[in-house]
Amino acid sequence: MGGGPAGSSAAWRLRRGGASVLVIDKESFPRLKLCAGWITPEVVRDLEIDPGSYPHRFLTFDRMHAHFKWLHLPVKVVQHSIRRFEFDAWLLERSGASVVRHTVRHIQREAGAYVIDGEFRGRYLIGAGGTRCPVYRTFFRDANPRATELQTVTLEHEFAYDWRDPDCHLWFFDKGLPGYSWYVPKADGWLNVGVGGMAERLKRSGSDIKHHWAHFTRMLGKGLAPGAAYDPAGYSYYLRGNVEVARVEDAFITGDAAGLATRDMCEGIGPAVRSGFAAADAILKGSPYSLTDVTGASLGGGFATRLLDWAFTRGAGAAAAAPIPATI
Ligand SMILES: Cc1cc2nc3c(=O)[nH]c(=O)nc-3n(C[C@H](O)[C@H](O)[C@H](O)COP(=O)(O)OP(=O)(O)OC[C@H]3O[C@@H](n4cnc5c(N)ncnc54)[C@H](O)[C@@H]3O)c2cc1C
Repeated sequence: MGGGPAGSSAAWRLRRGGASVLVIDKESFPRLKLCAGWITPEVVRDLEIDPGSYPHRFLTFDRMHAHFKWLHLPVKVVQHSIRRFEFDAWLLERSGASVVRHTVRHIQREAGAYVIDGEFRGRYLIGAGGTRCPVYRTFFRDANPRATELQTVTLEHEFAYDWRDPDCHLWFFDKGLPGYSWYVPKADGWLNVGVGGMAERLKRSGSDIKHHWAHFTRMLGKGLAPGAAYDPAGYSYYLRGNVEVARVEDAFITGDAAGLATRDMCEGIGPAVRSGFAAADAILKGSPYSLTDVTGASLGGGFATRLLDWAFTRGAGAAAAAPIPATI
């Protein structure tokens, strides 16, 4: 259940393998998904997307700008942006799965099948419902309690804007933010800006995300986005911790439901896609479901990863001390 990148990737691979798939999502697609919409070349490759024939907004940056206080580091690196509103609907439609709009509330196991709200029945169940996934709640929460130290909070806004700077900018730890703020332009005059930080550390510092948002948008007003008007919204998700149990009988958890976003850049789309594929493979091939190929690091697991991980989750407990899987 869930038609975001984790669910649609699982559905796509299952359909290609000849399985019959039903995707249950509480929203009708296209639907709003709060997300900066930055995707890596690995995601493009994993999803076999040809940018030339992708029918929606797709922008490639050749450079990203990292800002640390007064330090400005332009980094030559190829990355992309999409709008989740378009991207998720396109992926879901491409999967070829049947989709039904329904808010999942109650799941039970009956005679070797999963029964959802007394209405839907299936042999396998993939939990791809994001942070508040009912599959996680029902079958996985006790085995994988979420570490509050790895919880992020965000505020963001995506809007039509005639941006002038076509590169992506990231401001790390600005004004003590335990995270970063972003400016991510999209093709054809759209822009996503936002602020994300570690929830516990923000609380401990006596600050909150709204305060950082106010500072950030004031700064944008004087620089990259003069005259923009904002109506921000927030969402919370978890960075990669210990996922002790990813499969219980024929139920799986994937993506944000499992808390798989990377520990250095808080990137969740790539891990969602890879975990969706892995769940599909486990069903199709009968192989063990493993998250070892799902990276917990966007920057390769080296020094930069360890530094950012430390800076985001320092002072955190045992869950945050878990090693970061760094497969790319
Ligand atoms: C502000 C913000 C910015 C981000 N920026 C980036 C970025 O730039 N790049 C990146 O890689 N990652 C980013 N992330 C993380 C990324 O968005 C997520 O990690 C990713 O969407 C996870 O995909 P998913 O398929 O697991 O879950 P989701 O995309 O959240 O999909 C879950 C689906 O489940 C459905 N659902 C939920 N509950 C129910 C229910 N009870 N019944 C039925 N359906 C239900 C939802 O409607 C939704 O469609 C960002 C996150 C936030 C909040």
